[in-house]
Amino acid sequence: MKARKPIVIANWKLNGGLDLICTSVASFIGKHFDAQIAICPPYLYMRDMMTFLQFSELQIGSQNVSRYESGAYTGETSAQMLKQAGCSLCLIGHSERRAMFNENNEGCQIKVRTALNSGLLPVLCVGENQTEREANITEEVLYKQLSEGLANIELNGRDLCVAYEPVWAIGTGLAATPSMAQEVHQFIRAELTKIFDAESAARVRILYGGSVNKTNTRDLLAQQDIDGLLVGGASLDPGHFLAICEQA
Ligand code: PEP
Repeated sequence: MKARKPIVIANWKLNGGLDLICTSVASFIGKHFDAQIAICPPYLYMRDMMTFLQFSELQIGSQNVSRYESGAYTGETSAQMLKQAGCSLCLIGHSERRAMFNENNEGCQIKVRTALNSGLLPVLCVGENQTEREANITEEVLYKQLSEGLANIELNGRDLCVAYEPVWAIGTGLAATPSMAQEVHQFIRAELTKIFDAESAARVRILYGGSVNKTNTRDLLAQQDIDGLLVGGASLDPGHFLAICEQA
């Protein structure tokens, strides 16, 4: 039994449609899980999914959140709106948003703050790219992402997740080995104890993401500091995602 409740989050990215919603939700109906399970569909489908959720333990998450609360910010969706719509959590600073939509650590920090203040569970995504790993600067990269992304945040008993997603492992089929991931998670946990008090840091769940599948799930989750998984490609196959969740 893990000290922290495991969590498995599906990130559908810009994929899926009504068919996938129906088959995914149907496969979770009436099932009980030891882990907290959430799916982050495209915004447009959240409400469709929520109508089915009274029949399952599934939660809905958002792939992003606005740093703003309201106003003239065309195309944005606020944390408060997500919360009111029934969302439980939101991803923040996914590597695709950092690389393709110019998100930076300061913006992530603002998003973490608005998510916490609105009652959403923030899942701050961090991770080094291939060049940074080869240059042996993984820890420096993570230090910067964590210290800036969580600067001056006070948890005051509220939950936070950090998702370690090495960019070189995302969508490539090249997952980090369990021991490689554990080593980084241990480093992240140590950094969190410098940012927060020891008790708060110990409560933060650290997820691994990057080519997770039903075959590597068990070994990854067996690691002491791997408290959950963020699943991209494999979550688009409902049977495959269910098999991952059943092992968590
Ligand atoms: C992701 O993009 O968050 C992810 C983990 O993708 P994949 O599982 O496809 O590597």
